[in-house]
Amino acid sequence: MDTAKKFKPKTILLWQKASEHPQAQRIVKMFPLANVHLIKNQHKPPFLDMSPPKSLLAGKRILMIGQTASFVRRFDGILGSNVHCCPYYKLVPVSNGCPYYCTYCYLAYVYRKFNSFIKVNINYDMMFKQIRKTLSGSQGKVSFNMGEMLDSLALDHITNLTTILIPFFSGFSNAYLMLLTKSNNIDNLLSLEPNEHTIISWSLNPRYIIEQYESGTANLGERIKAAELCHEHGWRIRFRIDPGILQPNWRASYADLIHKALTLTAPENITLGMLRMLPGHLRLAAQVYGNRTQKLLNNNLIRGASDGKLRYPINLRVEFYSFLIDTIRSLDKDVSISLCRETPEIWNIFKERCEPKKCNCLIW
Ligand code: SF4
Repeated sequence: MDTAKKFKPKTILLWQKASEHPQAQRIVKMFPLANVHLIKNQHKPPFLDMSPPKSLLAGKRILMIGQTASFVRRFDGILGSNVHCCPYYKLVPVSNGCPYYCTYCYLAYVYRKFNSFIKVNINYDMMFKQIRKTLSGSQGKVSFNMGEMLDSLALDHITNLTTILIPFFSGFSNAYLMLLTKSNNIDNLLSLEPNEHTIISWSLNPRYIIEQYESGTANLGERIKAAELCHEHGWRIRFRIDPGILQPNWRASYADLIHKALTLTAPENITLGMLRMLPGHLRLAAQVYGNRTQKLLNNNLIRGASDGKLRYPINLRVEFYSFLIDTIRSLDKDVSISLCRETPEIWNIFKERCEPKKCNCLIW
């Protein structure tokens, strides 16, 4: 069951310079039982001196309210010599952490050197300025991916970011807001007038993967129901089946997932990916999540790609993608299918069946 709406920070770190801001005051009022500490330095908050594994879990109940100078970050798409994506912009109004407990979460490793907390950046004027500046220097359609460094909707009932970003993006002819989530926190989306400049994508995995590795997130039925409701309301929707994880009987459970998703909804894109983690990330996850990570380690992941990440061997990735693509095509002849962060060997095999420029994070 989605735990996002039950999120209650034990501690709120309120950056002194933002403490009078109406958004800061509104958010603090939502959590009357939290210990609120005024802090002078956003980068070195006091009393959070813990080891990374302890900090990672404790940080999921610490909310910092502050500001940032880098809402928009360009991703050039290059992850070494043989793993390429297309370039896009990351939009990061909430940073550092997430209320969910995904064992494989790459944010945990990215932010490991910081003391962990969830940071809401409320200097929205700066965010709008940076989006406008990016657009003025760009040609054609530009996607702003708000799902790369955060779950786009998990805390939307607190930040109300969709209610300010969606109308803002609808005012440009070439700007697109990409949301990615494992939640069913869609009340704001259902209260807004839909338009084609925002696309909502749900990350999907079978029930047992969600139970073992995506603790706290919405279950599969809740995610598909949320997608169905948003689609009925008029929003553009997509699915990302990623990270694929192999367990006994994986074919039946992924087929079931695809059947449920495509019977109830009509996504415009499905992007597929498989588990990939840096060795140091796996070690950190093992310290934090113990047995849950041990099961991931039993997957015989190997090195070989230029991003340094461990992946399943090529033959298993080909088997997985072939099965999922065949299943999708048996139900939908037209939906675009793509692969996330794959190597040239895999792209070569699937070049007739997958479209590199039509993936979850891009607009076309
Ligand atoms: S939902 Fe995404 S950001 Fe949040 S813990 Fe899971 S993988 Fe990390």
